[in-house]
Amino acid sequence: MIPGVRLVVLGKQGAGKGTQCVRLSHHYVVPHVSTGDMLRGEVKSKTPLGVRAQSLMDKGELIPDEMVMEMVRARLSERDTRGRGFVLDGCPRTIAQGKELDGIVHPFGLDIVIDLRVPTELVMKRLASRRVCVDCGANYSTAAPPMVNWTCDVCGGEVVQREDDTEEAIQRRLDLYEAETAPLISWYTERDLLVSINGTGSPDAVTRRVVGAIDTQRQKFRQE
Ligand code: AMP
Repeated sequence: MIPGVRLVVLGKQGAGKGTQCVRLSHHYVVPHVSTGDMLRGEVKSKTPLGVRAQSLMDKGELIPDEMVMEMVRARLSERDTRGRGFVLDGCPRTIAQGKELDGIVHPFGLDIVIDLRVPTELVMKRLASRRVCVDCGANYSTAAPPMVNWTCDVCGGEVVQREDDTEEAIQRRLDLYEAETAPLISWYTERDLLVSINGTGSPDAVTRRVVGAIDTQRQKFRQE
């Protein structure tokens, strides 16, 4: 039986995190915990958190740490994630969130943090052509649309461009990534948890690289 995993995936917007995280959650049979998807769910249901988050998200700004981490704490305290683990996508995005996450996952800790690396020009191209299902979040692109008339192949939902995939919001998110999220790379490297993976190439090739890195990291921990 494949053991679970306690995994964080970092990477710029458009690096393929969403696609890889879904694949990894199936491979390791653990929930895919995406803070972006959770926040989009809150917006759609018009909860108090969703109402506060919407304008920040549309502009590409970050949601305040305490609001996001309360949501993450609740999700990672559930039985499924405490038992087999999780693939955490989109969090942490700041050092403060990383510190808070340490407390949330204590005493088990994280197995590994993957940094999915893709050149910025490619990321801009991918984001401009990205389309998503409003219901299940499945990813498509103008080059690889759903089979029938922008209707999701997985659930039949409508496939659209994300509100925050405009040129200004994309640039703002990339700037925030450099300023707020990139420092987490050295922070996790110092903790001996970070592995950088080349995120270019086919989704299958990238998944194989990530699974290989996780297996190697596990062997390393076993030998220590
Ligand atoms: P994503 O789907 O991960 O690109 O997230 C979409 C948007 O949700 C981001 O641009 C932020 O506005 C917000 N968001 C998602 N995760 C976080 C987080 N960990 N901290 C702050 N804001 C977040």
